[in-house]
Amino acid sequence: MERRDHPLPTRTPGTVRHLSSYHYGPAGSAKVYVQASLHADELPGMLVAHHLRERLAALEAAGLLRAEIVVVPVANPIGLAQWLLRSPIGRFELESGENFNRHYPALRDAVWQRVEPALGADAAANAALLRAALRDAAAALPAETELAALRRTLLQLACDAEVVLDLHCDAEAVLHLYTGTALWPQCEPLARLLGAQATLLADESGDQPFDEACSQLWWELAARAGPARPIPPGCLSVTVELRGMADVDHATAAQDAEALLDFLVHRGHIDEPPQALPALLHEATPLAGSMPVTAPVGGLLAWHRAPGAWVQAGEPLVDVVDALDGRVTTLASPVEGLFYARENLRFVTAGTRVAKIAGREARRSGKLLSA
Ligand SMILES: [Zn+2]
Repeated sequence: MERRDHPLPTRTPGTVRHLSSYHYGPAGSAKVYVQASLHADELPGMLVAHHLRERLAALEAAGLLRAEIVVVPVANPIGLAQWLLRSPIGRFELESGENFNRHYPALRDAVWQRVEPALGADAAANAALLRAALRDAAAALPAETELAALRRTLLQLACDAEVVLDLHCDAEAVLHLYTGTALWPQCEPLARLLGAQATLLADESGDQPFDEACSQLWWELAARAGPARPIPPGCLSVTVELRGMADVDHATAAQDAEALLDFLVHRGHIDEPPQALPALLHEATPLAGSMPVTAPVGGLLAWHRAPGAWVQAGEPLVDVVDALDGRVTTLASPVEGLFYARENLRFVTAGTRVAKIAGREARRSGKLLSA
């Protein structure tokens, strides 16, 4: 194992922060990248990374790693230090208001310029060209602010990996995944091993989250290059939503870390006999079919159903109670599907998205992720 500390530019005199990465297994081989808590106060992944590192150290000592496995257990030291009146603010940078998991720069055009003259008929050779060009393009990104430098450093660590796992959580939720539509065949074993209850697929989620910045250009450049110059889906990049904010405990984290390792065994990155895959709990559905339920009025939330429930269109999910005039507004599911995430606060203002249902049919367009 090698620890690398990547300094971020000093924002104000007298302060300095680092991003730290832990590298296991043989360098120069296939690469796997795992980061936790890019939204800094989403903590289940941080504990999973802790358990993962213990297991990776043992696997490395036993000589069983066949890939370089990079773990960034604290992907957002900027956000982790943001506290306001005893509450953590880990989703948005306080200085710019930007979401830490949006606005990753697209490297597509810079990579295309570099690789296009050299592409040939060998898909593996083309993938190697792309990975080298990605490293160069990420290194050349401007980084004038601490946030831009954080984004650049994370991309530099992840961009040439075959597998990128970005560990997040929702407010209150069952385990679910986001990935590219073209990546579902590669992702399905991960969904089985983690026991994911929903997987939400998109070619373009909007506003360039981290997982898409790593994976999207592979299918975009494959379309540009055409079948005579094949480019494989060379980066399985997945946002893993490890349930809800409060689901932080050793037993669950150790189980999730084992599932991630089983997935790497399944892909041949760890030299152990693969296990039989468990059943898939639910088929993947389009992210455009994930329907938000929005509270039209402010008030107390009294829930009828909890995440994990299969609900019908029109089925009551929650009452919004106005305790002054006694009015109760019942919100129902707009579609049949899996109720996979809900708000963790129990009082909300008008306009708050309080629930998400994974429906089977694409019904939305434009920006598909919440702010
Ligand atoms: Zn998140």
